[in-house]
Amino acid sequence: MSSEQYDYDAIIIGAGVIGSGVALELTRRGLRTLTVDKLPTAGYGSTSSSSAIVRFTYSTEAGVAMAYEGYKYWVDWKNHVGDIGDQEHAEFVEQPMVMPKTPNGHYLKVLPHWDRLGIPYEDLSFDEAAERFPFVDLRIFGPPASLDDIENPFWDEPTEKHDGMIVSPNSGYISDPQLSALNLATAAIQAGAEFRYNTTVTAINRADGRVSGVTVNSADNDGEQITAPVVVNVGGPYARRLNEMAGVLDSMNRSSRALRREVYIYPAPDGVDYDTDGVMIGDTDTGVYFRGERGNNVLVGNAEPDCDELEWVEDPDANDDVLSEDGFQLHGLRTSRRISGLPIPQKKSGLVSMYDATPDWLPIYDRTDLDGFYVAIGTSGNQFKNAAVAGHVMAELIVAVEAGHDHDAEPLVVTGKYTGLDMDLGTFTRNRVVPEDTHMNVFG
Ligand SMILES: Cc1cc2nc3c(=O)[nH]c(=O)nc-3n(C[C@H](O)[C@H](O)[C@H](O)COP(=O)(O)OP(=O)(O)OC[C@H]3O[C@@H](n4cnc5c(N)ncnc54)[C@H](O)[C@@H]3O)c2cc1C
Repeated sequence: MSSEQYDYDAIIIGAGVIGSGVALELTRRGLRTLTVDKLPTAGYGSTSSSSAIVRFTYSTEAGVAMAYEGYKYWVDWKNHVGDIGDQEHAEFVEQPMVMPKTPNGHYLKVLPHWDRLGIPYEDLSFDEAAERFPFVDLRIFGPPASLDDIENPFWDEPTEKHDGMIVSPNSGYISDPQLSALNLATAAIQAGAEFRYNTTVTAINRADGRVSGVTVNSADNDGEQITAPVVVNVGGPYARRLNEMAGVLDSMNRSSRALRREVYIYPAPDGVDYDTDGVMIGDTDTGVYFRGERGNNVLVGNAEPDCDELEWVEDPDANDDVLSEDGFQLHGLRTSRRISGLPIPQKKSGLVSMYDATPDWLPIYDRTDLDGFYVAIGTSGNQFKNAAVAGHVMAELIVAVEAGHDHDAEPLVVTGKYTGLDMDLGTFTRNRVVPEDTHMNVFG
């Protein structure tokens, strides 16, 4: 695919965990790549705020297959990134992901895929779950409510309990998400890639009916033009803006938008060693997801219950980054329903960031109507876990399409190199049809 008349074979916009993964895979396939990021190093965008949960609880088969394949990369991380000199490696911390067996719950959509694809899990009765995880309260509190809900009072004592719990033992989280992006970027550089930081893409250029490169601003050269026959948008919450620059927004059936998100940290209850015994939960019943956080803490995020409004962000540069007192209290109280005795300190702790969200919470890994312009966007708060495999499928897609494959007519199916599972990229196309009333939850 090498094209000597261009400065590079491919330009990747964004050095987050996914952009760096794409850079690594394209470079290892022999392409001359340049990755540009407006921030000072890799992984400083939304990646650095990620809850970094690795789980397989998806409702589509391609989603499960990709997450399981992605998990294998984390387990094999040192081999995957190869020689990165003295740099530390991001660490995969194992912690079981559990799904309370809520009547008509999410687990019913997940288990058929797990059974078909051979994903390991345990099916615990209520008594078995209560014995194994005594600090988890398995009563049914839902549907989730706000504190001032009159129709569905928050503090109503539950009368029902869950049937039990599904336990996914291979799940976990990455201790330092920014470092994982840096590992991938360093591996890409070792393979011959170039990265330019503090460099902002201000235009995406076209020539002869296809993409021809980008214009960038940097400290020493405003308006510099860099040419390449392939440009990949991996701009995270800025992806929509980059699609607008490329003139492809209107031709996408569904695009993505920036969504404000808060994540909160609470200490574990007295007597619970969460670092050793903790679990991760995606809980539609209380409206939160949570996992352990080193130092015997619990990290909590919002799981999009109907009662909470979504805060869409028009201008990602103007996102309100002050953690809210109300959100800290509410999410602490919701979590304390599930984790008995969770303390809620006076002083709030957590972070504010943005998802790049699609209407169906699935990512878009695809080409666009502008030849040579590709997108790995709409990661919707749940694709950190897939960063390395997303790099792999994007590289396969780009190489195939540039060689003439009609991905729109015949979506590419990529086989995972660890699991041998097929990942049908048709699930992640920009042109998929999403019903207007689609409502999804994200559990990290
Ligand atoms: C609060 C939160 C919690 C999450 N929790 C989980 C989880 O538990 N599990 C999970 O799997 N996923 C999770 N995610 C999602 C996951 O973190 C993201 O999908 C992933 O980090 C996105 O990586 P990225 O490389 O696409 O984007 P980013 O990390 O946002 O990188 C995009 C980069 O593009 C650069 N950029 C943008 N525009 C330009 C421009 N014009 N010029 C130059 N550079 C530009 C930015 O500076 C940025 O560095 C979470 C996300 C958030 C925000």
